[in-house]
Formats: sequence, C-alpha cells, structure tokens
Amino acid sequence: PAALAAGAAAPQTGDERHPPSTGLVEITGVHKSYGANEVLHDITLRVAPGQVVTLLGPSGSGKSTLLRAINHLETIDAGAITIDGEYIGYERRGTQLHELREKQILQRRTRVGMVFQNFNLFPHLTALENVIEAPIGLKRASRQEAIAQARVLLERVGLADRADHYPRQLSGGQQQRVAIARALALAPDVLLFDEPTSALDPELVAEVLSVIRDLATGGTTLIIVTHEIGFAAEIADHVVFLDAGRVVEQGPPAQVLRAPEQARTQEFLDWVI
Ligand code: ADP
Ligand code: MG
Repeated sequence: PAALAAGAAAPQTGDERHPPSTGLVEITGVHKSYGANEVLHDITLRVAPGQVVTLLGPSGSGKSTLLRAINHLETIDAGAITIDGEYIGYERRGTQLHELREKQILQRRTRVGMVFQNFNLFPHLTALENVIEAPIGLKRASRQEAIAQARVLLERVGLADRADHYPRQLSGGQQQRVAIARALALAPDVLLFDEPTSALDPELVAEVLSVIRDLATGGTTLIIVTHEIGFAAEIADHVVFLDAGRVVEQGPPAQVLRAPEQARTQEFLDWVI
C-alpha cells in the first residue's frame, strides 16, 4: 500500500510548498479523515536534527495517527511528510512523485523507530532476539554483528543482564526498555514514542523516562507523545498541542506549558496535571 489513499491527490512538488529547510522531519499541510471524521487538519510541523518534540493533546486528538503517518503505517489524504528529504510513501523522479512499492516502504520505514504504549515485543523471542530480529531480517548485519550490537544497546538501556529473558519474565519497564533498544537497532534517523509510559505501573515510569532522557541529551531526534507534562517541560525543545486534529498551539515548553496563549491549551494542562 502506498502512503496516500487511492484516488487522493498526490502531494505537490512545487518549491513554494517545500522551501529549503533544515527540517529532518517535515510535515506539511497534512490532512487525514476516516470516513466523515477528519482526524488531522492541516498539520504543519518541522523537526530539526537532534530536536526533541513532544506532542500533547486529549484522547482522540490525532496524536497516534500523526505518528503512524510518519512511520508509513497510515496513509494521508493530502499534504506531505518527508524525512531527510525523502517522501513518506513516494519517491521523486524528476518533477514527478511515484508511489513506493511495499518493499521500498519497508526499507524506508527502517529510518524511523517506533516505541508503542504496549511494548509490542515478540513474546516468543528473548530480549536479545527481539533486538537482533530487524537487523538480521533486513540483512543489514550478520548474526554475529547483530548480537554484538544488541548487547551494546541492552547495556545502554540498563538490561545487559536480561538479554536471555523472555518478555513475560520482565517487568513492564524492562519490556519497554527492550522495545527502545529494538527501535534503536536499525540506527533510525528519528525515534517516535507513543505514550511510552502510559501502560506502566507508576513505580516503573522513571526508569523508562530516564532512558528517553539519555537519548534526548545524546542528540537523538525524538517525537514523543506523552501526558507526562513535567517530563515534556524538562526535555522538549518544542511542544505541540493538538486538539480535534488541529495544532492549537506550538512553541518552546516555557511558552506552551507555562504561559499558553490558547484557553484550550490551559484547560488541557489544568486537567492533566
Ligand atoms: P490520539 O492518539 O490523540 O488519542 P488517534 O490518532 O488514536 O488519537 O485517533 C484520532 C481519531 O481517529 C479518533 O477519533 C479515533 O477514533 C479515530 N481513529 C483512529 N484510528 C482509526 C481507524 N483505524 N479507523 C477509524 N477511526 C480511527
Ligand atoms: Mg494515541
């Protein structure tokens, strides 16, 4: 499947729509509907290399749909998303955009890592096997290389001693840290987190946030959907507040979280904190 719904207009390639920019992830005028339900309305957002962006918003505001679109898991109806200049779902040949084939989408998706609320580890594979699966499956690495790299990544998330454990033998916080190591295994350009701590018992949240904090300070480009406002205030370079599929407000955390201009943003913050 291509990233644009069949019959929908292809994204425009006109330069006025894509001026030179330093964005690593560029989301331009994105619209998405499910039937009559418009879930994303004219979303425009630039994420620079090394930047940490947090997406906030009430349930149903379109946060997961936007992340899924960035990761080729969802088609969009209009607009364009590029990562390092490459279109999601399309490739440019001359001035024309052509829909990508499934195999190309799978290749391109490896530039984006994604961490889900419910970990989504392979239950029948150990922590180490979960991390080496993609590098080996996509023939990026020999088994030996992949194992050596996975051990480094598991060490980085504090789980060097859990390599041979199965997900059911790990706590939720440990499973999520394995999921982060797995997402890092293909050295993606950008990592997406969809409410990475929402399914965790409160005492396990800090260990996952700590790993994400290390990635942020280490210069990894991150887009994080979270309701952890304090954490967002601490690590984000840029905060985006979505409501009903629209960007209501975006800017530095000191502005959006401490002195929002929009009443809707303040209402949400009052409710969530
Ligand atoms: P959020 O992550 O902010 O809670 P979502 O992106 O999951 O919001 O959902 C946004 C809206 O899109 C909601 O109204 C939801 O019901 C709808 N939606 C999400 N996925 C689908 C789908 N596959 N089919 C139909 N509607 C969907
Ligand atoms: Mg969601």
